[in-house]
Amino acid sequence: MRTIESLGSLSEHTVIVRCDLNVPLADGVIADDGRIRASLTTIRELREAGAKIVLISHLGRPKGTPEERYSLRPVAARMAELLGAPVQFVAETVGEAATAAVAALTPGDIVLLENLRFNVGETSKDDAERGAFAAQLAAFGDLFVSDGFGVVHRRQASVYDLAQLLPSAAGRLVAAELEVLQRLTETPERPYTVVLGGSKVSDKLGVISHLIERVDTILVGGGMLFTFLAAQGHAVGASLLEADQLDTVRGYLATAAERGVTIVLPTDVVVAEAFAADAAHEVVAADAIESSSFGASGLGLDIGPDSAAVFAEVIAGSRTVFWNGPMGVFEMDAFAGGTRTVAQALADTNGFTVVGGGDSAAAVRALGFADDRFGHISTGGGASLEFLEGKALPGLEVLA
Ligand code: ADP
Ligand code: MG
Repeated sequence: MRTIESLGSLSEHTVIVRCDLNVPLADGVIADDGRIRASLTTIRELREAGAKIVLISHLGRPKGTPEERYSLRPVAARMAELLGAPVQFVAETVGEAATAAVAALTPGDIVLLENLRFNVGETSKDDAERGAFAAQLAAFGDLFVSDGFGVVHRRQASVYDLAQLLPSAAGRLVAAELEVLQRLTETPERPYTVVLGGSKVSDKLGVISHLIERVDTILVGGGMLFTFLAAQGHAVGASLLEADQLDTVRGYLATAAERGVTIVLPTDVVVAEAFAADAAHEVVAADAIESSSFGASGLGLDIGPDSAAVFAEVIAGSRTVFWNGPMGVFEMDAFAGGTRTVAQALADTNGFTVVGGGDSAAAVRALGFADDRFGHISTGGGASLEFLEGKALPGLEVLA
């Protein structure tokens, strides 16, 4: 993969940097600035080399038009604080104001353009539409650095098409993330345990078939555990369920058994009356979710304490642990217990631990764990999962 060195002298050049500044926002306040911090290494280096810097990023999932709640404005302010240098924000991604701001840059200056996904071209499936937007972006600079690790698995204008329009290279964050992932795929020390949770159930189920070939144990929590329980014939109340994946999941369980890979499912879960921080809740056996006081309308929002203890024990005995996806709705204290116990187990183990995923990283920080308690906190959940699956990542292939 081409690194920044391959671009030659950066002095006086205008460098477009694709970052992943997709931070969690609550009422306009940045809940976790980890992704901003992770992008600073490259930005500092480019500044010191005398480049004029044009930062581009997405935030959230707006549908191709501007929406104030997805504005990158608060990110520019936070980045300026962290860098100790001005970061000029432009309230559009492309257009006259953006063009003027870029033209006015002097070496070391930084401008952050508005959310890429306010433009339909960014995520379009139509090559021409994407290409046209990428060409508008390319006009802002003469070099391109791809440093948004969280999006390198996406064939999107600012990730894939833009890299082909300008001399391009991977930034320091992308390079560092790859080094860790290579360690996980090439020579993982065993036992190797993967912990899966979160809410993007169908996205993550696919990973399991590949992980079965590579790991010793898979611990299943978060939203996807209910699809597993249902596949075993248990009622799951109103919990998250991918009904069309039941056969697939049964297949995984059978393959895992054949290969001697252990898939550990929770034996108890926290069931709530509603999806709310103050909802009534109870711990029940995982095979009897509808036996709670809430019957068939009960929602499973966390793994139970017994299960969390079992997960922690498996993690303690592992030499390599990769974790993606919170064990429950950690944003609400009543449903954060499983995530907290798993995070503690990772923090305590002597093995090599990697936490991947925007919400997973936010969870460990929100629960008070310092970054250095883990071997590595990845900025990309989907990207790291696809890499571990052995898939080709479009945003990396274009940098080869
Ligand atoms: P990551 O960003 O780390 O890849 P995801 O985006 O897949 O993780 O999932 C994170 C979200 O999953 C969190 O907001 C959390 O509240 C939610 N979640 C975890 N367990 C459950 C559950 N049982 N039901 C509903 N949502 C859940
Ligand atoms: Mg997420």
